[in-house]
Amino acid sequence: MTQELPVERIMHTGLLSCTPDTPLCEAAARMAERRCSSMLVMEGTQVVGIWTEHDTLFVDFGDPEAVQLPIKRVMSRPVATIHQATPIGEAALRFSAERRRHLLVVDDAGTPRGILSQTDMALNQGLEPYLRLREVGAAMRSRPLLLQGKLTLKEAAECMRRGGCDAAVVMCRDGQLGILTERDLVRFVACHPGATAVGELASRPLLTVGVEDALIHARDLLIDHRVRHLGVLDDRGGVVGLLGFQDLLAGAEHLYLDDLREALEQRDQALAQSRRNLQLAERVIDSSLEGIIITDARTRIEFVNPAFTHMTGYSLEEAAGRTPAMLSSGRHDVGFYQNMWQTLQEHGHWRGEIWNRRKSGQLYLELLTITAIRNDQGEVTNYAALFTDITHIRENEEQVRRLAYYDPLTRLPNRRLLEDRLELAILHAHRHQQRLAVIFLDLDHFKQVNDALGHAVGDELLLKVSQRLRGHLREDDTLARQGGDEFIVLLNEVEEVDDVTRVARRLVESVSSPFEVGGQIFRVGCSLGISLYPDDGAKVETLVRHADAAMYRAKQEGRNTYRLFRAEMHQQDHRLLELETALRTAAETGEGLDVHYQPLFNRDSGQVQGAEALLRWHHPSLGHVSPGDFIPLAERSGLILPLGERLMHLVASQLHDWLVAGLEPPRIAVNLSGRQFWQSDLVAQVRALHANYCLPPGQIGFELTESILLDKQQQAVHTLKALREMGCRIAIDDFGTGYSSLSYLQELPVTTVKIDRSFIRGLGECRGSAAIVAAVTGLAKELGLRVVAEGVETEDQLEALSRYHVDLIQGYLTGRPVAAEAFAAHYLITEGPSG
Ligand code: C2E
Ligand code: CA
Ligand code: CA
Repeated sequence: MTQELPVERIMHTGLLSCTPDTPLCEAAARMAERRCSSMLVMEGTQVVGIWTEHDTLFVDFGDPEAVQLPIKRVMSRPVATIHQATPIGEAALRFSAERRRHLLVVDDAGTPRGILSQTDMALNQGLEPYLRLREVGAAMRSRPLLLQGKLTLKEAAECMRRGGCDAAVVMCRDGQLGILTERDLVRFVACHPGATAVGELASRPLLTVGVEDALIHARDLLIDHRVRHLGVLDDRGGVVGLLGFQDLLAGAEHLYLDDLREALEQRDQALAQSRRNLQLAERVIDSSLEGIIITDARTRIEFVNPAFTHMTGYSLEEAAGRTPAMLSSGRHDVGFYQNMWQTLQEHGHWRGEIWNRRKSGQLYLELLTITAIRNDQGEVTNYAALFTDITHIRENEEQVRRLAYYDPLTRLPNRRLLEDRLELAILHAHRHQQRLAVIFLDLDHFKQVNDALGHAVGDELLLKVSQRLRGHLREDDTLARQGGDEFIVLLNEVEEVDDVTRVARRLVESVSSPFEVGGQIFRVGCSLGISLYPDDGAKVETLVRHADAAMYRAKQEGRNTYRLFRAEMHQQDHRLLELETALRTAAETGEGLDVHYQPLFNRDSGQVQGAEALLRWHHPSLGHVSPGDFIPLAERSGLILPLGERLMHLVASQLHDWLVAGLEPPRIAVNLSGRQFWQSDLVAQVRALHANYCLPPGQIGFELTESILLDKQQQAVHTLKALREMGCRIAIDDFGTGYSSLSYLQELPVTTVKIDRSFIRGLGECRGSAAIVAAVTGLAKELGLRVVAEGVETEDQLEALSRYHVDLIQGYLTGRPVAAEAFAAHYLITEGPSG
């Protein structure tokens, strides 16, 4: 009894897959390149849909955007599957009963193994006897779809869809006939041809057969020319039909299935048993999709089939007489081949994956089965090798692996791979009693570049940074991207701590020289934190965390530098935690919080023309905590919002009291940090504050640093305008220390520029400072902005400032920040009749 063959024997294994969000044109490009007629859509390991060349008929070619749609929008779903062990006969019944063109072949676990398509069944051998007997005329479809060459692609696809045709004859301009098929449409999805008419797009000339030719002739033409349709001509040369692979099958189901089964069995027997059948085998394998090589007993190639030529690029003439070593990729060692031969000798066959090289030099992976063919005496007379190209299956796997372990932008290892490597490195270091180092690297101000100039520039910059960093590390050091603008470096076999700090300095230096992206020059810095094994921890997680903490220190202590994690940092951490807890209490209760006011004087008249509100915090056990310490902590922990709100109420209520007492307080400026500025209800808050405390418009103003405004400049302008409309003054604080760009000043509705005190301090000492003060004051004058000189401590500085356009002076020389009562006593005069 012959058993029915399972579908897995004739299915296509070259599965292509993509994610649901892949643009249609990308999927089509891969299909066209691989000559695959379908694309599986996978979400993780789950098949969620399929898109086939037949679906091209439903693409709206009139809209070039249509090919950009994500494939999930157009795929078919659910995907009909068939178990790999299903007999072919049953599959054929399903094809005709369900009018399907494809079935996804799956194994027990439901994992996709291959695709079974109707054409594949016809492409496989077995139809010969039937095809020899019948004529083309009996198999062709009644009428071919004829299209005028001037139609648009959209109209042509519609005609094909309505007519249920997978191909159409196109009448081109010069009277020549061409053909347009679903497979062509895949190419046009991949690369939309715009408004070109189908007469220009059709493939020409149309291959034809006579209506009275034998079907076998038609099939050979189809295979030889690697096309899937032929025009059918009558005896006067007129086109009367189109013949496709499907048509070869039509009406021959029973015949065909029996033949197919028989031929496959013959193939197996022929290959496995004796040379007598080689002639038959040759016929069978000629049209096989698998590459086939037959050698003599000394492994000289005697025969290769067309599929071999297609896959490797070598013709039969080129291959004959040589050994299969001509395909050797050099990827496998001697042991691999020895093992293969040994298995062949002992068991008569070998099966496995092997990397070979095409004539073009390109590597490919094949799934190879070699069978030894013996004569009646049991001597090996030939070897037969069957292989399929599985490169793209492996490519898919590699891609999955890359995605899982590598960062797609920089192609550096990601955190997961880093952790794997670090774990191994720790074991190694432990065994050899060595040290290793983990460096946590974070770019300074990257976010601002990203937000201000767009993600494309940001990405490019990250790529350049990663390349520079890589260039300063040894081959066997690992550089990983942790995410965002954070990188982690793993240094193996560290002897001295000095070795690590030297690397750290090198990295800082490498990042600090300017970058050029898209014609613009940027400077970014970076902060590094270092932890050492075994000094700072013995576990992956601990080492990374400690390196991160050390990096944080580097950021706090000036950026563009590195810090080592040391045991004493633990204490520091504890202190910070304690401080944060205390600050939270203060923010909630207001306990220990107070505001000091520092006057701003008009340089020429000496009058008080404003004051800056500065937060003060006194804690019962911690004592006075400097704003330099608690403000950054508050910003990091989010406590800046409640603290800022408290401060504004304290200031507003103080102003109210002064006004009620008949004093004339000047405008008071409040410092805003980024988070406060970006609060969605800031404007409403300020409006309410003025209303609730009955303050004149603009009584409270604001100081902001440049970096806040660089973020999302457009939105910043919006908020600033709203504040200006309420009459509030807005000053750029610490001007010159950040991303100082004088040009952006003119686009922002600000009123005041405060030159940072470092430049005032530098006035007498360094020419650079003087140049900056000159430039800033000059520009401010042009733009009609008020200029404040901050941190004026000496008469010399005041004297030096007289050369520049400065409106206001703020500093210890003219007045320190003082509590409200002292401020009132010194600087406020009572309204009304006096003395
Ligand atoms: P800032 O905005 O630059 O404030 C000016 C700082 O310079 C104040 O330090 C002030 O006391 C100090 N200063 C004024 N004149 C001189 C001088 O002649 N010489 C020197 N060496 N320093 C002078 P302070 O009060 O320690 O505040 C430090 C920083 O903390 C402020 O810098 C500001 O950025 C922040 N800050 C203070 N209060 C607040 C607040 O309520 N909210 C926010 N967001 N930040 C605040
Ligand atoms: Ca300030
Ligand atoms: Ca300042």
